[in-house]
Parts: sequence; C-alpha cells; structure tokens
Amino acid sequence: MNYTKEILYKSKITGTYHKTPEAAESDGYCKCGSIKKTKNSIFCDKCQKEYDNKRADEQRDSFLKLIPQNWDDTVKVVYDENTDTWFNEEYEVLAHYNQEGLNIEDAMLIEGTPNYLSSIEYDYWNDDIAENFTIPAKLEKALCTLNEIAENTIGCYLPDGCRIELSW
Ligand SMILES: [Zn+2]
Repeated sequence: MNYTKEILYKSKITGTYHKTPEAAESDGYCKCGSIKKTKNSIFCDKCQKEYDNKRADEQRDSFLKLIPQNWDDTVKVVYDENTDTWFNEEYEVLAHYNQEGLNIEDAMLIEGTPNYLSSIEYDYWNDDIAENFTIPAKLEKALCTLNEIAENTIGCYLPDGCRIELSW
C-alpha cells in the first residue's frame, strides 16, 4: 500500500487546517484586513454593517419602485417587509409598530396577491397506469370538479402586489 503524507497548515485565528500556508494565513481575516466577526462569517463587524446597510438600501429602492396604492377596500392582506409580518387591517400595522417601539416610517407595506391551489393534471397517475389506459368518465368529471374548487381556493398570499401607502 502506498501512503501519501499530506502536510496541513493550521490557521492561528480559526484553528482550521489548510493545504497551503497562504490559506492558513488569510483564514479568519476579512477582505479589509480586520479579523472576521466569527469563524464562519464572511466579514468583520464593520464590513458586515456596511453590507447590511447596502442590502437594506437596495431593498428600499426596489420597494419604492413598486406602484403605490392606498389601503382601500380592495386590499385584503398586506405584507410588511420591514417586520416580516402580515396584516389584514391598517390599524393593526400602527398598533404593531407602537407595541414594538418601531418607527412607522420604516414600514414597507406590499399588497398580498392570492395564490390559488394548482390543479391536478392527468399525468398525476402516470406511474400507476398502462400506456393504453383511458380515464373513466366518472373520474374525469370528478377531477374537473376538484380542479374547479382548487383553482378558486386561496392557498396563501404572495407579497408581490402594489406598494401600500398608509392613510394617516
Ligand atoms: Zn472588514
């Protein structure tokens, strides 16, 4: 049997072993040269904050690009990107922000659009049937009825509607 001895280099910062001294030397350091926040972080504290702020700015920019709409009777469900919360009524948003001591100006409300259940197609049974199988009329009728109900059933709401503006 042949054995190959592999030399590994241990990082002074993270204690992780590396194949090259360069990799061991740079392990644990952020791109700016500071030591990373934790062993598994990509950045140091300062760069992480800069990255987070940049992401938040980008998120707000794309939010502001959405078509604005007032919270009227046509609006059923609203998602707040800022607090990751769904709301049914306008007053609930204010109450939530009050309760949590948050600034209502930071709210990023997006109208939820209904996501209906998908229909069941014939190929659902592909693994169970012979090539020459013909779907019985009774089953076809039942499937039609089932699909009609499914396609009109809201499974969830997706935050991809208009930007909702509060009326106060
Ligand atoms: Zn850094």
